[in-house]
Amino acid sequence: MLALAASVLLWARGDIDQSHVALTLLLVVLGGSAGGGRPLGFLLALLGFVLIDYYFQPPYELISVDKPLDGVVLVAFLASAFVTTELVTRARGEARTARQRGDEVSSLARLGSETLRYAEPEDALAAVAELVRSHLSARRTAIRLVEDGGGLAPEAIAESGDPDGMVESRLFASQSGVDDDAVRNAAVVTVDGSMPRGPLDSVAAGEPVLAVAMPLIVESRRVGVMVIVREKSGEPPRELPASDRRFVGAIGYYAALGAERLRLAREAEHANRLRQEGKAKDEVLATVSHDLRTPLTTIKLLAQKVAGRGDANGVIIEEHVDRLAELVTNVLDLSRIRAGGVMLNLELNTAEDLVGAAISRASGLIRDKQIVPHIDWHEPALTGRFDFVQSLRILGNLLDNALRYSPPNGVVDIDVRGDAPWIEIAVADQGPGIAVVERDRIFEPFYRPRSDTPDVGHAGLGLSIAKRLAELQGGEVIFTPRLGGGSVFTLRLPLAEIFDVVTSADD
Ligand code: ADP
Repeated sequence: MLALAASVLLWARGDIDQSHVALTLLLVVLGGSAGGGRPLGFLLALLGFVLIDYYFQPPYELISVDKPLDGVVLVAFLASAFVTTELVTRARGEARTARQRGDEVSSLARLGSETLRYAEPEDALAAVAELVRSHLSARRTAIRLVEDGGGLAPEAIAESGDPDGMVESRLFASQSGVDDDAVRNAAVVTVDGSMPRGPLDSVAAGEPVLAVAMPLIVESRRVGVMVIVREKSGEPPRELPASDRRFVGAIGYYAALGAERLRLAREAEHANRLRQEGKAKDEVLATVSHDLRTPLTTIKLLAQKVAGRGDANGVIIEEHVDRLAELVTNVLDLSRIRAGGVMLNLELNTAEDLVGAAISRASGLIRDKQIVPHIDWHEPALTGRFDFVQSLRILGNLLDNALRYSPPNGVVDIDVRGDAPWIEIAVADQGPGIAVVERDRIFEPFYRPRSDTPDVGHAGLGLSIAKRLAELQGGEVIFTPRLGGGSVFTLRLPLAEIFDVVTSADD
């Protein structure tokens, strides 16, 4: 092209000036550097420089600069040609890199979707291990999960290729004690097959890499480690090209997601097993309690007969049977509530009626103590939507506890108030209160603090039944310490909207 352009320009030399020549040859340089890169561009620039001077600047056919303006033209041509060549070459390089990155991204996306299409997380991880091994032509890949204590599981969850015990165990060992802060930098590389080194970024380009241990991170948490052994120990290590490094980093993300998925699946399985076991335990308890009822009724009848004959033991037996029967009823009720077998009758009821009924039911337990209700009779009745019978049961349990734990001559206060969206019925006693560490646990079934004296009939079920029954109605039972000592157990039930009350009255 240069020769052709120079010949045509030479033929027309009489009719054109130097700027036409310089611009035309510049176009040739541009085409040359776009097609053949930097060396061809620079070569054409130099040739063009010589051609202009030799053929197009007087004196012709002589390498010499006659007028200063000719020199300026030559220098301007050479500078423009060099700059153009450089710019075009750079743009070509950038376009190539962009194309390569695009290819990498699409191949990664393909790998990602391949790994995510497996239903079982174990299979997805095995697919990742295999993909990484084949893509990097590695000898071996293996993935181990982090266990609850933070250490690595002894067995690999997914692996592909020939094991290399020595390299693998060194790399996994170097990862097992990694703490959370060091997690991101813990990609370790062995260069000579014996010494783990890290992180991956610190290995200079061109430096040989034998194996890589990459922490798998999800939300700054290390969930596992993937080891990639490139060569067998003893073989000369190869360099890890930048594109492979990028691949390792990106595929690690999919592996981390797979590992996290596996952990969640295992947790769900564990929770499910516990739920099944809990259900089986409930069923056994319910059956045993149910079967205990008939013999208890018989014993009670016999005890009544004995007591009727004037034997004091009969009365004692009857009392014990009553407490045992209460325990059996509680166990049965709790398993019914847990199994969702309690039918609620949610209706408009007033808190005042509920408190009145609870007090009259508790009258048998009062003995030397006193129950003092605080109800504002000037206000309209506090109306809520709740199940009267079950709420009476809740309040009965709270009052029973309050009277039981009150000192002799103690006073139990019942405060009734409306605090939208709740009706609050607070039962406050002057008893020993509840230690801070026990405050959540007392609501667990069968939990009684160690300091409590063993007591048949009180097996730590009252509060758990009360809490669950309240929650079933959209309410709750909470504990707060009483100022000056003692406990306050508050039953919260949903307050009825005025609209509910009015429409219900219209009905
Ligand atoms: P129990 O029927 O055995 O009393 P609960 O579930 O009703 O079981 O109560 C659990 C534990 O909570 C009791 O063993 C007791 O230690 C504590 N507790 C409950 N109510 C009170 C209270 N009013 N004052 C002090 N301790 C209480």
